[in-house]
Amino acid sequence: MTTGDISIPGDAGATLVVDLDAITENYKLIRETCPNAAVGASVKANAYGLGLGPVAKALSRVGCQSFFVATPREGTSLRKILPTAQIIVLNGPARGATDIFFEFDLCPTLNSLEQIETWHDAIKERHENTTAWLHIDTGMNRLGLNHNDLERLLADPERLSELGVSTLMSHLACADTPDHPMNAAQLETFRVARSRIEAVTGRLEASLANSPGAFLGDAFHLDQVRPGAALYGIAPSLDRPNPMRQVVEIHAKILQVRSVDTPMTVGYGAAHHVEKPARIATIAAGYADGYPRAATSKTGGTMHAHIAGHDVPLCGRVSMDLITIDVSDIPEELARPGQAVELLGSHVSVDELAVASGTIGYEVLARLGSRFERLYKGGQS
Ligand SMILES: *Cc1c(COP(=O)(O)O)cnc(C)c1O
Repeated sequence: MTTGDISIPGDAGATLVVDLDAITENYKLIRETCPNAAVGASVKANAYGLGLGPVAKALSRVGCQSFFVATPREGTSLRKILPTAQIIVLNGPARGATDIFFEFDLCPTLNSLEQIETWHDAIKERHENTTAWLHIDTGMNRLGLNHNDLERLLADPERLSELGVSTLMSHLACADTPDHPMNAAQLETFRVARSRIEAVTGRLEASLANSPGAFLGDAFHLDQVRPGAALYGIAPSLDRPNPMRQVVEIHAKILQVRSVDTPMTVGYGAAHHVEKPARIATIAAGYADGYPRAATSKTGGTMHAHIAGHDVPLCGRVSMDLITIDVSDIPEELARPGQAVELLGSHVSVDELAVASGTIGYEVLARLGSRFERLYKGGQS
């Protein structure tokens, strides 16, 4: 069955469409926004749930050369897909698991004195010249060397020189709020740390910006930016119009439509009361597919889906495999069993669903399930 060109196979409930051309358009937009910096791509967590292989190949075809993953294991998966790209492992090396970096040509991010020790031992043992990124914490307080760590590192210039650091990085905490004073403060802290380290090593490359950071202006771009979310259509700032193209569509099938003509309730917890005659459609997707249950349990059903030019409100709770929508106000022929309903797409953005569910678009994407029929559009250019 189809709506437009979207088909949902008879043995599946919903189809997830990933528009690879939209991803590469978004990549090009960031390249234009950061004309003096290299643009890498964050593809951790299976490319934010969208599929590591298709996404990484499409980005590689339009010239992306550096890819960021969280774990070495994600790095080895990506190495099998892209034999020559630079792969940077953000979580860094663990003692006893450093060989994998050499065997798969993965570049570690060194996030702590302990990781520096581990990596220093590994390169001594293997006598191999490789490069590493060094992470300076400038206010995120999650990973990276803090002020005291940096003093200790600088106290041993020989070891610092031996690490093969190619790039210094830090991570912005508030880049999605362009006017936040933290942005300029982190940039300045980073600048000072960088000049002290470079006094030992000579000039290094530098990287600070994630997706929202790429939209903060030239000063934040440095040598390389590391966008993820914006490539996948998430707004760099919720306070401003979204310049990115939507990448993800979800179309789910209507299983049943029922007419309710006496007051009754819909779904678990009898949480939704139907007072007047209504038509309720039950569709084949739920929180097991990553559609947030909170889209209705918190907001009382203000989230909507879309059918042929009409927004239709969710009603009742999102359950594991099913969602109920109120189709009373649209023509009957638009909502019949077998027809498709847009849960995400050009009429329902990822950010909109996230806000209605009390979360962020990143989490909505990263949780998309494995039960969908997955279709990839484009990506050949
Ligand atoms: C995930 C991540 C990114 C990408 O962030 P987005 O906000 O998705 O663009 C960049 N840098 C680091 C260190 C990250 O962990």
